[in-house]
Amino acid sequence: MTGTPAAQQPMLDVRELVRHYAQAGQAAVKAVDGVSFQIARGETLALVGESGCGKSTLARMIMALDKPTSGSVLLEGVDLSALSRNRLNRLRKKFQIIFQDPYSSLNPRMTVHETLAEPLVLHQIVPASEIPARVSRLLSCVGLTSAQAQRYPHEFSGGQRQRVGIARALACEPELIVCDEPVSALDVSVRAQVLNLLQDLQEEFGFSYLFISHDLSVVRHISHRVAVMYLGRLVEIGATEAVFMHPKHPYTRALLSAIPIPDPNIPPSRISLRGELQSTGASLAGCSFAPRCTNADDRCTAIAPVLENAGPNSRIACHHWRNLAAFDRGISQEQREPPAYVAAILARMSQEAAKTP
Ligand code: ADP
Ligand code: MG
Repeated sequence: MTGTPAAQQPMLDVRELVRHYAQAGQAAVKAVDGVSFQIARGETLALVGESGCGKSTLARMIMALDKPTSGSVLLEGVDLSALSRNRLNRLRKKFQIIFQDPYSSLNPRMTVHETLAEPLVLHQIVPASEIPARVSRLLSCVGLTSAQAQRYPHEFSGGQRQRVGIARALACEPELIVCDEPVSALDVSVRAQVLNLLQDLQEEFGFSYLFISHDLSVVRHISHRVAVMYLGRLVEIGATEAVFMHPKHPYTRALLSAIPIPDPNIPPSRISLRGELQSTGASLAGCSFAPRCTNADDRCTAIAPVLENAGPNSRIACHHWRNLAAFDRGISQEQREPPAYVAAILARMSQEAAKTP
């Protein structure tokens, strides 16, 4: 514990978190390999990166469902690993998780009423006599009706089931909600509704979100800051608009360029990533993104870059982010919308390359 008053403590403070999975006869899988960030009260931090980069492993450690190999998770200044099982269980109501697949995370044999009453009883949120009224209120918060309380999960659509999952998280009156790909399994048509609901609930209740997604386009309108993860490490973290308008890390640029553009008059541009996501087991001396990076040189393959300050509220792990930022000059406002912007950088790079004998 530090001496800082609770109001100034970050809601969540993740310090140098590491999770390696031992494998018989092989190098350990470095699922999470030294991740640090903070989330303020009422803030949404989006965590994005390709499937397999360690996002869910990080989420499980934050929820104290998995033990870190090293590093720590502090909730309002309290180190979760230092708590007895009893104290941790009492604290659990403060942090809740919403999973990708509401069907497998809800008990198929429990009605919605039972699903929502369970945490109310477990954490003694309200007296028994007030449970029906509280269940009705939770359902109305997520846009469902009290009449639906006696139904079972299979009687709902995917979007409605995710609303039940959200209501269950809300039941505990949490201060931090970890959303692990909460809309990835939903039809595109209901994604926006669920995202809007999450945003409205945050405005009403003021909690913090760690919002995990493999899809960068999902997070733009709901997050205050974005952290980009690659093979167990953060490569870029910054304010959402800055990351979208001026992405600094080559991996962030590649992710942005993969977002489809709705305007048919703008030609699609795409920075192709070379190769596949590497195994998290292989120990690379240098930058783990180097094998897929078109800007990589000898320094990148020899020395791993650290996450360094790259401006106010921005940190980047790339030896060359300053050089890449230089391409920003001379780009028009229209080109700053990500896909055209990235295309302009590529065109400029190939022009420069053509000039070099
Ligand atoms: P993401 O959520 O970003 O898709 P995960 O955190 O699920 O990624 O997985 C990160 C890496 O850790 C993957 O290579 C995965 O195979 C590995 N991994 C995850 N859980 C385990 C486990 N329990 N045992 C061994 N390896 C695991
Ligand atoms: Mg995952």
